[in-house]
Formats: sequence, structure tokens, C-alpha cells
Amino acid sequence: MAQTKDGTLWVAIIGAGPAGYYTAEALTKGDQDVRVDIIDRLPTPFGLIRAGVAPDHQSIKNVSRRYEATNQRDDVRFVGNLSLGRDVTLKELQEMYDVVVLATGAAKDRPLGIDGENLPGVIGSGPFVGWYNSHPDYADLNPDLRIASVSVIGNGNVAVDVARILAKTANEMGQSDLAAHAADVIHVSSIKDIYILGRRGPLEAAFTPKELGELNKLENCVTLVDGNQLPDPSIDETLAGATKKNMIALRAMATNSPDDKPVRLHIKFYRRPMAIIGEDCVCGIRLEETVVEDGKCIGTGKSEVLPTGLVVPCIGYRTSPIPDIPYNERRGIYQNEDGLISDGLYCVGWCRRGPTGTIGTNKPDGKVIAERILNEVSPASKKGRHGLDAIVQERGLHIVTFQDWKKIEAAEIDAAEGDAPRAKFVDLDEMVSIAENK
Ligand SMILES: Cc1cc2nc3c(=O)[nH]c(=O)nc-3n(C[C@H](O)[C@H](O)[C@H](O)COP(=O)(O)OP(=O)(O)OC[C@H]3O[C@@H](n4cnc5c(N)ncnc54)[C@H](O)[C@@H]3O)c2cc1C
Repeated sequence: MAQTKDGTLWVAIIGAGPAGYYTAEALTKGDQDVRVDIIDRLPTPFGLIRAGVAPDHQSIKNVSRRYEATNQRDDVRFVGNLSLGRDVTLKELQEMYDVVVLATGAAKDRPLGIDGENLPGVIGSGPFVGWYNSHPDYADLNPDLRIASVSVIGNGNVAVDVARILAKTANEMGQSDLAAHAADVIHVSSIKDIYILGRRGPLEAAFTPKELGELNKLENCVTLVDGNQLPDPSIDETLAGATKKNMIALRAMATNSPDDKPVRLHIKFYRRPMAIIGEDCVCGIRLEETVVEDGKCIGTGKSEVLPTGLVVPCIGYRTSPIPDIPYNERRGIYQNEDGLISDGLYCVGWCRRGPTGTIGTNKPDGKVIAERILNEVSPASKKGRHGLDAIVQERGLHIVTFQDWKKIEAAEIDAAEGDAPRAKFVDLDEMVSIAENK
């Protein structure tokens, strides 16, 4: 338990995603006078809750209501449309705040490391998901979906999300907040075959049962699994938890027929991407067959070329480096010891531990970092938000407060059509102008 210290502790949290909000919540719930500014480069809060979580999974997005409650507090302020590195430097923030906490997530795709991965038509899940989820950075991505087949690489929930969003009909997406620019392309696409490709087998797959099960309930698309790739049924009674539930779902899919529906989603295990093939754009992907022995994935030397017009690798993420902040190249995170980077500088969430776990995993992470901060740092009469406000004014920056964000949100709800919960804006200037409209 941290001892209450005299004076105001000024904390700048960079990144308004789950990790940033859980840290702010934990920092402000004790007796210590702590004032937190949660700074985000976007004019909108909530990080991947808004721009990562699938548009047809609205109930998961509801967790943001909890962060709203944190924002109702006088001691917590959202400062949107302000980027560390572009608008303000780390040094400046450290001069103004007692503590800087990086909660910047992990927005860069981990590379596949194979030939052809830079061809047009290879689009990492970061940009691809951002595109269909209205992230302003990727609104103009405009992928060419006038193709027959798509290969989604990875055996986790992001791969399942991407495949499902491509497979669902306009009707199935009616209650979602799928970006209009993406709906216009996806719902007239000529895609007939979607492949989810995994290096390992069904027992190693990281899908969660609910997300996997959804693939067997699609209106226009049948999900197919080669029964020969599933383990002998005698193993089933030794399985437990998610693996057991996944096996039940996969066995059901193995009984489906390719003719059941117009579009087919193939889950193929034991396939390692070796090269992406094409001259000016993708036309295929070379896959090596693998076996899993003692948990290790081993190539058999046998390979095949799968014709495909788009490859979406969903194999994990890396944190974007920021000047002057030590970076662990191998792990793609900020170099840190249990969240501490250097005196007064901490990190939390995906940029601390890598892209693992669910939204809820960031809660204990935020609590631990908040406790560390309260134990380790004493207030030093810094200027805090008054210093930041002076910089904002001096530089003519257009920050977005939480009240401003609520105006943007209201306009998005107003603009929604049919059963959609909102029509998200993608243009930063438009959002700032709505925010500034008194
Ligand atoms: C495609 C996808 C789908 C997912 N779906 C689910 C799901 O259904 N359920 C679930 O439990 N989990 C899901 N997750 C995982 C969940 O989103 C993460 O656990 C969580 O968002 C990580 O939180 P974070 O705060 O570390 O990072 P983020 O949520 O990424 O937040 C980081 C924030 O930092 C900001 N930022 C970055 N750089 C700067 C800078 N220089 N200056 C200012 N601000 C900056 C970003 O704009 C962003 O708002 C999903 C993840 C992905 C990628």
C-alpha cells in the first residue's frame, strides 16, 4: 500500500486505450492527490476498443463505458489529437509531469520475413482491421477485393475476425459499425474462397471457442475443415477448456460440404508460408506442409502453391519506437523492467508486455504500474497540465477534450443508418471541427 505524499502528483499517460484507462483508474482511486492527463494522438479515445475490436462485436466495445466513468472525474482529463513525438517531446512532458506512462499499444504488424511480403496485395492486419474499423490512418487503403480468394495467416482471433468480416453479408453486418468505405468494397467483392492458414495444428490454435463457433453460423459462407487434420477422436476426452470446445466446433465443420453455401472458408492447419508469389501483385502463396513434434513446428519439405489475390498476415504486432525511448528490437516493446523504463518513465499494456491477452488483461497490468508509481515517485511541484496547456496554446494545437469527444460521438450516432450504432468519422479535420463547434 502506497503512503500518501504531500502535493499534487502530475501524471501524463500516453495512449487512451484500455491500458491507459486502467492505469488512470488505479492511480486516482486512493487518497493521494494525483492528476492524470490521458493523451492520445487521435481525437477519439479507447484505442483498439474502437479501432481493433470487430465492428460486429458491439457488446465487447461496451467496456468503454467503464472508461467514461474514469473520465467523469475532475482529476482525470482526456487530451485527444496530441501526439507524443509529433506535437510534444518526451523531454517536454518530463519537465511538466512527475511521471510519464507510455500506453501506446503495438500498432505495427510483425513481419512474416518471407519473399514477396512487400508486394501490393499483402496487407497486414493492422492496416486491414484499421481500414474496416474506420481508423483515420487507413481510411484510404482501398484494397482490391475483385479477387477470387484471400489468405489470412494466423490461428488467433484476429485471423478469425478478418475472415468473418470478409465473409459476412451486408444483412449480417446491419447492426455493426463497419466503415461505409469498407462495406462498399466487401459487399460487392468477388471472393469465393477464404483461407485461414496456421503453421501448427488444431490443438495449438489460439482461437477462442466463441469466435471459432461463429464461423459455423454464417449466412452465405460455409466453413470447411479437413477431418484428416484433426486428431483421432479418442483424444477428445483428455481435452479440457477452450481446446475441447474448439475441437467440438472443428469436428462439426469437418462434416460440412463445400456446396452448402456460395462462399467457402477453409481452415487449413500445418501450413507454413514460404513465399508470396507475384510480379506486380499477389497471385499465390507458397506453403510448406509441417508436422508438430514435442510442440515444435517442423517443415516436411513438401510444398504447394495456393492461388490467392490478397494475403492478410495476422501474426502479431510490435510497438512503434519513439525517439529517446529504449526499445527491445527482439520483442518489439519498450525496454523495461516490470514497467519501469527509467526514473519517472513507465510503460503499461501492449507496449510493455507485447500483444497478448484480452482487454481485461490490461487491468491488473494498470494496477501494478499505478502501485509502483505511487510507491516510487513523489510530487515535485511541477506545472502539470498548466504547462501542457501553455504549449498547446503557443503551438496553436487543436486538442480534443472528453466533452469534445462526446460531441463527435453524438454526431456519429446521428449519422448512423438503419440498425447501425454509429457511422464513424475518419477525417481528422472533420472531427476536430465538430469538436470545436460550440
Ligand atoms: C484486431 C484486434 C481485435 C481485438 N479484439 C479483441 C476482443 O474482441 N476482445 C478482447 O478482449 N481483446 C481484443 N483485442 C485486444 C485488445 O484490443 C488489447 O488487449 C488492448 O487494446 C491493448 O490495450 P493498449 O492500451 O495497450 O493498446 P491500444 O488499445 O492499442 O491503445 C494505444 C493507444 O495509444 C495511442 N498512441 C499510440 N502512439 C501514440 C503517440 N505517439 N502519442 C499519443 N498517443 C499514441 C493510440 O492512438 C491508441 O489509442 C483485439 C486486438 C486487435 C488487434
